[in-house]
Amino acid sequence: LNNMDQASLKAYEWLTKFYHHVLRHTKEGKEAYAYLQKRGFSEEMLETFQIGYSPQSTDIVTQFLEKKGFHLQQMVSAGLLSANEQNQITDRFRGRVVFPIRTHLGKTVGFGGRTISGQEPKYLNSPESSLFHKGKLLYNFDLARSEIRKKAQAILFEGYMDVISAHQAGIRNGVASLGTSVTEQQASLLKRYAESVVICYDGDRAGIEASYKAAKLFKQTGCNVMIASIPEGLDPDAYLKKYGAQKFKHEVMEASNTYMTFLMEYYKKDYNLQLEGDRIQYMNKVIAELTLLDRPMEQEHYAKELAKTFDLSLSTILEEIHIKRKKLG
Ligand code: ATP
Ligand code: MN
Ligand code: MN
Ligand code: MN
Repeated sequence: LNNMDQASLKAYEWLTKFYHHVLRHTKEGKEAYAYLQKRGFSEEMLETFQIGYSPQSTDIVTQFLEKKGFHLQQMVSAGLLSANEQNQITDRFRGRVVFPIRTHLGKTVGFGGRTISGQEPKYLNSPESSLFHKGKLLYNFDLARSEIRKKAQAILFEGYMDVISAHQAGIRNGVASLGTSVTEQQASLLKRYAESVVICYDGDRAGIEASYKAAKLFKQTGCNVMIASIPEGLDPDAYLKKYGAQKFKHEVMEASNTYMTFLMEYYKKDYNLQLEGDRIQYMNKVIAELTLLDRPMEQEHYAKELAKTFDLSLSTILEEIHIKRKKLG
């Protein structure tokens, strides 16, 4: 690390403490504290995740960093402060609940800030910097790592709130991809610790589309992939708050779909299976996926299912797979 990065790391450490102190012990933090309480987050979670709050003020954080002797322009470049149109330096996360984003070693290198007053955007993250590479990090990987290894399984969520709610409910192998698309680097990071990954995204269209992309990526990485499905309109955090940990375990985690079952369901959206032509196209699409499976046992299992659904013989489906295989070479 160069001197500038050293200074930024130090500033992140100070600010994590500062935001957290504001949330826990000041009147400026009361509203945010009440907001988190209302959402059901325990004191212990506020501590464990060092959740904080940046006051509405435009310069309280700026002043704090100045007093600590930090070079303010450098803090802007590192994404800890902002500059407005007049090039004045201002606080970046004002009026937002702040989630420190830590590396696998537990060092804070970025923040995610959620508005508590309906401002846009809902979340504001630290910008990419020499310290903060969003695509290489997984939120909560440092705390979840030992549990991921122990269970040989990781749960991949969309957001901070999902990870923290899960942790509060005793599910400690959850991480989040900080946004909706997982990167190759994030996938191979998880692969080193987990044989299998359960993708547990939000129960909306965006969540399903993102699950599809993530599932493909993890499969390519060689992970065993399962895809959990959250009822429409909820996300894992909301589900846990509404139904509790037991129901989440039994009706979401244990009911998660295998990769092929998810794909067979997912591809249906593009076709009207009442129509003969669409049925053929759909079958072709599924058979193309079956061809890519490397285990004959899996292939036969899903081939049987497809055969049953469309009233064909298993040997016909296997023959189709054989033909496609040869074409692929
Ligand atoms: P909440 O429950 O507070 O609404 P959420 O985690 O359910 O939060 P989502 O809209 O589902 O919010 O977004 C999932 C994750 O995607 C967030 O936790 C955040 O990391 C990221 N995200 C969402 N919106 C943005 C944004 N505008 N800019 C950057 N990241 C975002
Ligand atoms: Mn979402
Ligand atoms: Mn949510
Ligand atoms: Mn969500």
